Amino acid sequence: MSAVLVVGSANADLVVPVERRPAGGETVLGGDTTVSPGGKGANTAAAAGRLGADVALLGAVGDDAHGRLLRESLTAAGAGTQYLRTVDRPTGIAYITVTPDGENSILVSPGANSALEPADLTDDVFDGVRVLVTSLEVPLPTVERAVRQARSKGVRVLLNLSPAAELSGETLAALDVLLVNEHEAGYLLAEEDADPRRLLDLGPRAAVVTRGAAGAVVVEDGKSTTVESPRVEAVDTTGAGDAFAGALAASLARGADLVEAARLAVRVAAVSVTRHGAQPSYPTAAELE
Ligand code: ADP
Repeated sequence: MSAVLVVGSANADLVVPVERRPAGGETVLGGDTTVSPGGKGANTAAAAGRLGADVALLGAVGDDAHGRLLRESLTAAGAGTQYLRTVDRPTGIAYITVTPDGENSILVSPGANSALEPADLTDDVFDGVRVLVTSLEVPLPTVERAVRQARSKGVRVLLNLSPAAELSGETLAALDVLLVNEHEAGYLLAEEDADPRRLLDLGPRAAVVTRGAAGAVVVEDGKSTTVESPRVEAVDTTGAGDAFAGALAASLARGADLVEAARLAVRVAAVSVTRHGAQPSYPTAAELE
């Protein structure tokens, strides 16, 4: 039983520094590879766990070293792995090259994440759950089933539309909170810099748009509230959006309203960008003080 259930991906992040990326047919030598636990679902669960939330990840990994790394990282963060299946596929991998200007380029091989099926969402996984958080690095039918099931059980539904994908009107209308970055908001509204209030026309009861160093905008009851981010020196923004999602869910599960939850989430995400990596960069509640 967990107050926050995350349905999403778990990946090993393989990060290689490169001077430049190879073109087709070319070989380029890079620096040493670092392997760290990642994936939007695992990151979100780890962020919530670090803050002391009662949280579990429903996902899938392979029977390999990367799968064990993810289990260990989640456990260390205080996130439950009782619904993390081990399947007969390799653990998902994100191949990440980083150039000296700090730009990332990412290729994801979903592997085990592709094996997460709607049938894995048995009714009992929602027992005691107050908030469902889901994101889109796992098969869409699984996400849609999770949203429907949570809704029918009176569980609050938060969907992080990342990476951007087309959702059915029925799924959008079942969301309590739609969480997107500016790019994903632009995708949904088919227009950059559109008024975030228009997101509510798509069906969700509320929306949160993250805006990098500028913080976030919360849209609820037809009105939008800007939540400023603390100013920090960013060294690595990998997993910042997932840190935001995990903190938002942890705070909502404790009964905070959405603006209050977003105020905590910008503080957590701001700390995460001052440290390297995704999960290793997430703060505990004590560190936030
Ligand atoms: P994503 O990581 O999904 O692309 P954003 O870039 O909007 O999304 O970042 C998510 C959140 O992380 C922001 O709302 C903000 O709270 C925090 N954040 C990201 N970049 C910075 C930064 N340079 N300084 C402070 N906070 C940041």
